[in-house]
Amino acid sequence: MTKILISALFFLIMTNAYAQDSHDQLLFGGNIIDVKTGNITQNGIIAIDDEQISFVGPAASKKDHVGLREIDLNGKYVIPGLWDMHIHIEGKDLIEDNKALLPLYIAYGITTVRDMASDLGEQVLKWRDEVADGTLFGPQIFTAGRKLEGIGSVWPDDLEIANEQELFQMLDMLDDYKVDLVKVTDNALAGELFLKSVKASSDRGYLVSAHIPYDLTINSLADAGLSSIEHASFTIRLGSDERPNVDQVISGAISKSQAQANYFSNFDQQHANAAYEELAKKNVAISPTLIGSNKLTYFNPELESKHPFRQYLTKLFTSKYQWRIDRMAGDTPADKQRKKDTYQLVASQLPHIQKAGMLILAGSDSAPVNTFVYPAFALHEEMTYFQDAGLTPLEILQSATINGAKFMGQMDRLATLEAGKNADIVVLNSNPLENIKATQDIFAVMNNGEYFNRRALDEIMAQAKKRTMELDQQRQ
Ligand SMILES: [Zn+2]
Repeated sequence: MTKILISALFFLIMTNAYAQDSHDQLLFGGNIIDVKTGNITQNGIIAIDDEQISFVGPAASKKDHVGLREIDLNGKYVIPGLWDMHIHIEGKDLIEDNKALLPLYIAYGITTVRDMASDLGEQVLKWRDEVADGTLFGPQIFTAGRKLEGIGSVWPDDLEIANEQELFQMLDMLDDYKVDLVKVTDNALAGELFLKSVKASSDRGYLVSAHIPYDLTINSLADAGLSSIEHASFTIRLGSDERPNVDQVISGAISKSQAQANYFSNFDQQHANAAYEELAKKNVAISPTLIGSNKLTYFNPELESKHPFRQYLTKLFTSKYQWRIDRMAGDTPADKQRKKDTYQLVASQLPHIQKAGMLILAGSDSAPVNTFVYPAFALHEEMTYFQDAGLTPLEILQSATINGAKFMGQMDRLATLEAGKNADIVVLNSNPLENIKATQDIFAVMNNGEYFNRRALDEIMAQAKKRTMELDQQRQ
């Protein structure tokens, strides 16, 4: 009996170790940013009732909110919790490593993530539910679980299908898993069956996020119910008529890499812009994930090896980076130039995509196999690449808050600082509407109504570092 009591007490202490009391609270003295409009309420107040925001307004209304625990934000800038709309929690040998990273998302102001499937699908579904019921500390998770692929996919533990019957079996399984969306990729799945996968998932009411195979047009996928294009590199195909290239790939007249070269050399901005407008009308969103190609284009292993975030990654985790480092060593100057040209063209599409009205979803594609794309920190880097590409800071904030919520159908509950919304809040030392890099300088975070000041956030980071060292030692 005593033993149970002690362990229950220990559990309580552990789960609340970082946070101060989450009674009703009043944040005051901050500059509150409305991410829908970019308007700032100077010296505003936010009242928190348990896990929810109950009031947002001017300082004058502070007198109506008495008896709350008051927290002075002292002229800092207040935004909603950030969303990373494309991560992979993956690696069967990295379960503990991934688990130890979850609290770091909160320390980096990321209160919601969209996991885009992996070999740890079932584990991630479990963690999603544990976070939701408060037994695991980390960001709220939406997950695709495991993704649809063809037979012999390069990625481990994909749901590989050879025909329509197997497609339906896998979708039944995803129904049982209660996944939040369906992900379809193009390594070993193509043509009719790929198209059917998107259509069947959409027909069951799922959001469908996908890569684009070379033997299908983006438009045909949009008509089949595609919800989002994962990775902006696919947009290069929209700069010319896809049909002739797709037909030639199907007939075998040209290879996929020839098709890619054609798309690149025939790229016309006007043509692409018209295509973006079409996709916007069909409600197709895009998660650009520039950072992955940025890291390989401006490749600097020496600098990356000294990156401060590396202290939170185990040796086993970063050992997964090596395959790409080795492969990059073979790049010729021409390869390097081609990478730069491609990156610049892809990145330059963002303002056009934004103008056309497509929903841009900030996502990092952080994963152990995505070399130098560090979980949690990568979203902040991705946002600076959006800024370099010409999006305004407000557009970038939207891509990392309300756009994710709009896409996931969660606007009634999340992603803005309004009464009735979940109390997921980030407080920054400087104004992110002037420079998006401000998101990297965090004063405090509120997750689900739990307030973490800078000291508490530093403690989360210290614990993560300690856990990393423990895991490294266990494996020696
Ligand atoms: Zn991905």
